[in-house]
Amino acid sequence: MSMRAGPLARICIVGGGTAGWIAAALIAHHYPQIAVELVESDDIGTIGVGESTIPPFLQLLARLGVSESDFIRDCQASYKLGIEFRDWQRPGTAYFHPFGDLGTPDTTDFYQLWLRARAEGLDLPLQDFAPANVMAQAGRFTLPFAARQTPVGTAAYALHVDAKRVAAFLRRYAEARGVVRTEGLVDDVAVDPGGFVQAIRLRTGEQITADLFLDCTGFRALLAGKALGGGYRDWSHWLLCDRAVAVQTANAGPPPPFTLAQAQPAGWRWRIPLQHRTGNGHVFSSAHMSDDEATALLLAQVEGEPVTAPVTVPFRTGVREAPWQGNVVAIGLAQGFIEPLESTAIHLVYRAVDYLFRFLPARDCAAELAGEFNRRMIADYEEIRDFVVLHYCLTERRDTPFWTACATMELPDSLARRIALFRVNGTVPDGTDELFRAVSWQAVISGMGVTPRGWHPAMDRAAAPTLAPDLTRAAATLARFVDTLPTHARFIADHVRAP
Ligand code: FAD
Repeated sequence: MSMRAGPLARICIVGGGTAGWIAAALIAHHYPQIAVELVESDDIGTIGVGESTIPPFLQLLARLGVSESDFIRDCQASYKLGIEFRDWQRPGTAYFHPFGDLGTPDTTDFYQLWLRARAEGLDLPLQDFAPANVMAQAGRFTLPFAARQTPVGTAAYALHVDAKRVAAFLRRYAEARGVVRTEGLVDDVAVDPGGFVQAIRLRTGEQITADLFLDCTGFRALLAGKALGGGYRDWSHWLLCDRAVAVQTANAGPPPPFTLAQAQPAGWRWRIPLQHRTGNGHVFSSAHMSDDEATALLLAQVEGEPVTAPVTVPFRTGVREAPWQGNVVAIGLAQGFIEPLESTAIHLVYRAVDYLFRFLPARDCAAELAGEFNRRMIADYEEIRDFVVLHYCLTERRDTPFWTACATMELPDSLARRIALFRVNGTVPDGTDELFRAVSWQAVISGMGVTPRGWHPAMDRAAAPTLAPDLTRAAATLARFVDTLPTHARFIADHVRAP
C-alpha cells in the first residue's frame, strides 16, 4: 500500500500574510477535522500592501460568519464603490469602473440601450447611469438593499482595509478555531524523490511534517519555487510595470468611497482611503523610470502628510506554471501576481482556497485534482491579465515612451479577439465562471473613449423618439436619489458598531 494512503489529516501553511491567514481561517471553519499549523517569521514580516478589495471579499467574510460591522471597525475599513481612473485615455480625462448595476434594474443590457439612445441624440456618458459612480462622485454611500427600493439600479460595494489589521483579525479568528501558529524562520525544505515535500525545517532545528503544504511565503515562494523549482509564466511583456513604491499618509479629508488610479508618465498611482489613514503607491516600469524619480513623483502628489517612510517593492508579473505540484499548493504572491490595478490579488487567494476545497485531495494528493486546480487557477489569471492590459492598450497617450509602448504592443490573442468583437457592436462574451462581467468591460472600454461601430439589432425595437429623453430623466432621478443619501463618513459613523 502507498505510504500516502488515507484521508488528509494535517495541513501546514507556510507564511502568515493575508494569503496564509485567509487559508487558515477558511480551512478551520470548513474542515475542523483537519489539523492546521501555520508557520510565519516575524523577522521577515508581511508585504503590508494589498488594501483595496472587490465585492467577493464580502462573500468571504459572510462565509466565515464574520460580522461586516465588526470587521470594518477592527480593520479601520472604508467602503469602496469602484475605481476612478484619471488620465488613462489622455491627460485630463477620467472614468469610473463601478461595482453593481449599470442603468435601470429592468434592462437586461443597458449598454446596448445606451448605444442606441446615443444615436437618438442622448449626450450623457455611460457612467452617469451607474449608481456606484454617482454615489462615489457625490461622496455618498448606502447599502444596496436601501437602493433597491428605488427606481434606479443598485450599487455593489467592497472594502478598503488595513492589511496588517486584516491579518491580525483573521489570525484571531483562526487561532480561536484551533489553528496552531508557530513563529519561526524556515531554512530548509526536505523533498522526497517523488517530488513531495516531506518536512520543513526551522532555523531552531524543529521539523514540521504534513500531508499537504500551502506555500504562502509571498514572492519568496520558498516551497513551490525554491524547493520544487516550478516554472513561471512571465507576462511582463504585456504588463510593463515591475515595481511599486508605497507610502502611508494621514487623511487630508473624509475618506472618499472609491479607489483612485491615476496614470503617471511610466505607470500609475493609487490612493486607498481608510478611516484612520490613506494608503498610496506608485506602480511603475523600471525600464522607464528610476526608484528615486518614482518616489519623488508619488510624494509630490499625495494629499496628506506621510506617516511612514516610502518602501519599494519589486515584482514579476505572471503565474506559476503549476501552482499545485505534488503536495504543495502555492497561494497568494507565491502563486503569481498581476499588478494591483483592479485589486484582484486578495480575491485570487480566496479563489485558490475555494478551488482547493472543490478539489480537496486525500493524502495521496492525486495529480488529476492538482491538474484541474491548476487549469482553473491559470484561467482566472489569464482573464484578469487581459482585463488589466485592456486599461493600457486603448490609450490615446503617446506622451512618453512607456505609453507609446503600451499603445503599440502586440496583445494576447484572447484580448485582441475580445476587443475586435466589441468594436463590431459592443458584444462581450459573458462566461459563467468569469470574474469581470460585461458591465466591467463596457465601463472600461467606453471610459477609454471607444465606441462600437453598431449595436445589437434587438435595440431597434426599443428605439423611439422618447428614448433619449427617457434616459436623461432616469439619470436625473438617480442623481436626485443620491443627493438624499448620507455622506460616506456619516454612514460609517452611524452603521459601524462600537466594540
Ligand atoms: P506576504 O504578505 O509577503 O506574506 C508572506 C509570509 O510568509 C509572511 O508571513 C512571511 O513572514 C512568511 N515567510 C516568508 N519566508 C519565510 C520563511 N523563510 N520562514 C517563515 N516564514 C516566511 N492585493 C489586493 O487584493 N488589493 C490591492 O490593492 C493590492 N495592492 C498591492 C500592491 C502591491 C505593490 C503589491 C506588491 C501587492 C498588492 N496586492 C494587492 C497583493 C496583496 O498584497 C497580496 O496578495 C496579499 O497581501 C497576500 O500576500 P501574501 O500573504 O501572499 O504574502
